[in-house]
Amino acid sequence: MSFPYDAPVSQTLFDRASLVTPGGVNSPVRAFRAVGGTPRFMVSGTGPYLTDADGREYVDLVCSWGPMILGHSHPEVIAAVQEAVARGTSFGTPGEGEVALAEEIVARIEPVEQVRLVSSGTEATMSAIRLARGFTGRAKVVKFAGCYHGHVDALLAAAGSGVATFGLPDTPGVTGAQAGDTIVLPYNDLAAVREAFAAHPGEIACVITEASPGNMGVVPPLDGFNAGLKELCAANGALYISDEVMTGFRTSKAGWFGVDGVRPDLMTFGKVMGGGFPAAAFGGRADVMAHLAPAGPVYQAGTLSGNPVATAAGLAQLRLLDDAAYAKVDAVSAEIRGLVSQALAKEGVAHTVQAASNMFSVFFTDRPVRNYEDAKQQEAFRFTAFFHSLLSQGVYLPPSAFESWFVSTAHDAQAVERIAAALPAAARAASEATA
Ligand code: PLP
Repeated sequence: MSFPYDAPVSQTLFDRASLVTPGGVNSPVRAFRAVGGTPRFMVSGTGPYLTDADGREYVDLVCSWGPMILGHSHPEVIAAVQEAVARGTSFGTPGEGEVALAEEIVARIEPVEQVRLVSSGTEATMSAIRLARGFTGRAKVVKFAGCYHGHVDALLAAAGSGVATFGLPDTPGVTGAQAGDTIVLPYNDLAAVREAFAAHPGEIACVITEASPGNMGVVPPLDGFNAGLKELCAANGALYISDEVMTGFRTSKAGWFGVDGVRPDLMTFGKVMGGGFPAAAFGGRADVMAHLAPAGPVYQAGTLSGNPVATAAGLAQLRLLDDAAYAKVDAVSAEIRGLVSQALAKEGVAHTVQAASNMFSVFFTDRPVRNYEDAKQQEAFRFTAFFHSLLSQGVYLPPSAFESWFVSTAHDAQAVERIAAALPAAARAASEATA
């Protein structure tokens, strides 16, 4: 596909970046490889808008991949950050901010009795798995194809390829030994989990799942799936780990736990709880968390864990996220979903919009998507055309057909109006696209 518009300043920055950084980016999806074209280098964000280095403004439907649930540069979050920065940026000692953030998490999410702060979602899931292994004395981990838990070696044996089924690594650099204890199963398939427990009695330390997956597009758990996982784990002496890095503090005040009420043994968080800074966490049952150093023998640490600026940003953001804020995000999400679906239907484009509270994505297929195999059946080439049409009209979508879209409390009528105005041409582009 050709790109009739250009972004000269972004392209120059991308060329410079590519000389000094592999692929020109610090996280792969940002490079636009799935959709082609020039990645936009952003210089500022305000409310629901991003401005790129060429001076173009976009309605942002990525929200930094989830964290910016209050929109960009929220004045109260910025003020909290400025106040924290003025007192110093890192002490390497305990501080009150991290206690307050931990208290806020424990107060909001009932299964979290104790919590440990870290700096990224990857660290949170890596540490939770180490803890589950240390606690149970078992080695094997069950994960689901299409679920992403960060770039933890053992969890990259994953995404749908044939070798993944056999627990072989599917990225070079992950050894067979690192991935050999990972069992990858199809999502939403309880029978497969039951069979795995039967095949490996007394060997499975934990089942880790996205509470409601957003990393193969939005594919919510079928009724009873999470409850079934919990039950199977309990019956077999394994821990149930719910990865809420994406859904935590986003899909409700208490994340996906607030939606389905299934009580995990351990949970992981990130994104929203950092208010746009690197802060993440894992927590859960006090008897399990007690095995973590220095209380217990399972080692885990971090130079910047509980960083005072990050915790101030996270705390300020969480304190603004009351019931009214979630109602607002849910409502604007429903409105945008409706507009997208109408526009695509009008052009006769087969599509399925799937949502988990205010997280949603559009699959270019008319069949429901229940797992990664289903997700891969969509006509992704239509997404590419849809994406570029919206981009050229000032609407910024995730640059991949396999990602959730995110909105914020700042997405007001004017932002929605801009999206609505851009959709007819984008839907037409999707309808005219060829593989
Ligand atoms: N878990 C889930 C569900 C995620 O969506 C992500 C990131 O997108 C991670 C873990 C990893 O988080 P991070 O990118 O902060 O390492």
